[in-house]
Amino acid sequence: MSARPAFALGDAAQPAPVAESVLTRARILVVDDDAGARRLTRATLNKSGFTVIEAANGQLALDAMMQALPDLVLMDVSMPVMDGFTACETLRRLPGGSRIPVAMITGLDDTPSIDRAFEVGATDFITKPINWSVLPHRVRYMLRASSAIHNLEQNERRLSNAQRIGEMGDWEWRVDQGFIAPSAQAWRLFGHAEADVAAAAAPPQFFATVHPDDRDRLHRACEQAVANGEGFAIDHRILLADGTVRHMQQQVEVIERDPVGRALRLAGAVHDITRRKDAEEQIRRLAYYDPLTDLPNRLLFTEQLGLALAQAERHQRQLAVMFVDLDNFKRVNDTLGHKAGDELLRVTSARLAAVLRRNDALARSSEPHGHSIARLGGDEFIVLLTDLQRSEDAANVAQRLVDTLAEPVFVQGTEIYVGGSLGVAMYPADGSDIDTLMMNADTAMYRAKEAGRSGFQLYDRSMNARALDRLHMETQLRRALERNEFVLHYQPRIDVLSGRIVGAEALIRWQHPERGLLMPGDFITLVEDAGLVIPIGEWVIGEACRQNAAWCADGLPLVPVAVNLASTHLRERGLPSLVARTLARHQLPASGLEIEVTESILLAEPELSIRIAQELATMGVQLSIDDFGTGYSSMSYLKRLPISALKIDRSFVRDLETDPDDEAIISAIIALAHSLKLKVVAEGVETQAQLAFLQAHHCDEYQGFLTSRAITPDAFARLHRQAGAAGAPGSAAASGTTGPCPTTTRS
Ligand code: C2E
Ligand code: CA
Ligand code: CA
Repeated sequence: MSARPAFALGDAAQPAPVAESVLTRARILVVDDDAGARRLTRATLNKSGFTVIEAANGQLALDAMMQALPDLVLMDVSMPVMDGFTACETLRRLPGGSRIPVAMITGLDDTPSIDRAFEVGATDFITKPINWSVLPHRVRYMLRASSAIHNLEQNERRLSNAQRIGEMGDWEWRVDQGFIAPSAQAWRLFGHAEADVAAAAAPPQFFATVHPDDRDRLHRACEQAVANGEGFAIDHRILLADGTVRHMQQQVEVIERDPVGRALRLAGAVHDITRRKDAEEQIRRLAYYDPLTDLPNRLLFTEQLGLALAQAERHQRQLAVMFVDLDNFKRVNDTLGHKAGDELLRVTSARLAAVLRRNDALARSSEPHGHSIARLGGDEFIVLLTDLQRSEDAANVAQRLVDTLAEPVFVQGTEIYVGGSLGVAMYPADGSDIDTLMMNADTAMYRAKEAGRSGFQLYDRSMNARALDRLHMETQLRRALERNEFVLHYQPRIDVLSGRIVGAEALIRWQHPERGLLMPGDFITLVEDAGLVIPIGEWVIGEACRQNAAWCADGLPLVPVAVNLASTHLRERGLPSLVARTLARHQLPASGLEIEVTESILLAEPELSIRIAQELATMGVQLSIDDFGTGYSSMSYLKRLPISALKIDRSFVRDLETDPDDEAIISAIIALAHSLKLKVVAEGVETQAQLAFLQAHHCDEYQGFLTSRAITPDAFARLHRQAGAAGAPGSAAASGTTGPCPTTTRS
């Protein structure tokens, strides 16, 4: 082992040196003007192992002490220059001088001198003539006593420091004598003013700061401890003069009992646990509350619901559990970003809570209703209505909640209509336990969504079958890709003037093993919920490219096939390289593929989307904006996107003949697009009149049932061949977007 370090934790464990050897080696200052007496004293003390220093008068004694403090002073009273009293008095004021034992040498029965000696701070007195055989024992005794006192003081200081540092205090209660002796730190912890701190007090004075709500409990505990002689532990609060509350933990023991076992003395340890309580409270908040909205979370809600159920059962009352889901939250989050989404959640949760509070206030019963609302995560909320008289009351509240959600919300300067769907399950009718009620409310909420959103549904048993269905569908959807159950149908895109097929839009269908051909509306929301947007999107790109290459190989003129991509897909960094690989694999030129996305890509991560769009454009893949006119497009963003076409949403075309606004909107969109050098495609053209309007307003292309629905690849090939053979005016080669197939090889 190396040398001991200068500082080691082990040092602290060494006991204070009070060993006998130390006492005998002690340095004694002998002060006497009588040289003979000094010599005798020295000889006696030396023999017992003490070290002796001599001084001939008080002044010399003080000089010696300034050099080095002795362990004990034997001081003659009458001396020239400075007498013993003055020397003792002065010595006490020297640094460290108060702790040194001083024995005054006085004449026997010289009572005034003895009194005076104690007045000036002497520790003891020794009478002349000195009994030489006893002197060393007296000295040793005084040293030991002084060292004991010194140790005691040190321990008290340590205890007090420890109590201060540990925010602890202690007290002793003399029940028999009716007073309590708290440590200074205990007084402080109990919030008493420094002026009130005393060695002892009447117990009510010391306990005066205990929180009024906790006083009885503490009082009872103390009484009981006295009566049966047993200790206790209690947590209680202290109410400070400024209104702050602190938390104390008291551990009380009985340290003395009378013969019948009643307590005579109690000892208590107080510990300030405010910090721990605060931390616990914070942990509780983290565990039980949603930090974004400050609403209870699922955990707290289920606990509350459990309690409410128990009460409802006892009092034979009804309660309602409501599941709330925002209708357009995902869209807002995707388009305006997470910050906007968060703000929206905060605003909506505050509004929902306000409706419930109003409802509470209106309730006729004077009992507290304890309606509560919690956030389950995402845009899902859950509401609990307790103590309902009739299920109609639940329906009323549900309607009010739905109405509130239908009101517009301003988020980051944008007016947003979110709307929400709500499902209600009642206890006991629709379930009697937490899980069943929550599940059934969820099911009813899905039903409300299916029924057209922004509404509510009361649960009924038939819904369970539907919910199971949905779950089943999602499982099947996951397997659909591997099992090749998706197909693409193609709707021709027609040149307004020439009537020729100038493109096609690929629209997905699911050939369901049991239900037959399903349209996107039947499963596209499931695709999102199941997290299959990207893999299905990739499949669509691959399949559309394969099909288009196959048509070319069969001798059809090349036209672009447009695929629909979810806007999240345009934020995939890998998209351009995936497209490039796919085109290469099928040996299809980039002009054979087009991508349609809705306007929503423009706002969420626009920079990334713009970059990806640019990469695609550089490759030669065209991009068009789908459902134009329904979103939040900002022209400044639109201008930065390398797009080639706007597709006018079906809804404007549909009402063209009946709604003059739609005429105005369509002609405005066409004018706008042309000014930006963009092509305009109208969707959902069903009548000649609509087509005539589009022709008159120079719309470029259209799609619609007027010409063809989305049809199978074979049907599309036939249609395309016929149209080509019909030799409509404006040849394929002239239209710019169509052309001869670049290659005849198929992969
Ligand atoms: P969309 O992109 O706006 O597609 C046009 C929809 O309008 C298609 O419905 C089409 O069949 C329908 N349509 C076309 N002409 C007419 C018409 O004259 N009258 C009426 N009433 N409807 C017409 P579909 O195939 O049911 O697709 C619905 C939506 O599903 C599409 O709307 C698109 O947003 C989405 N979708 C379709 N295929 C895919 C896909 O492969 N991937 C993604 N992400 N979404 C797709
Ligand atoms: Ca489309
Ligand atoms: Ca569309």
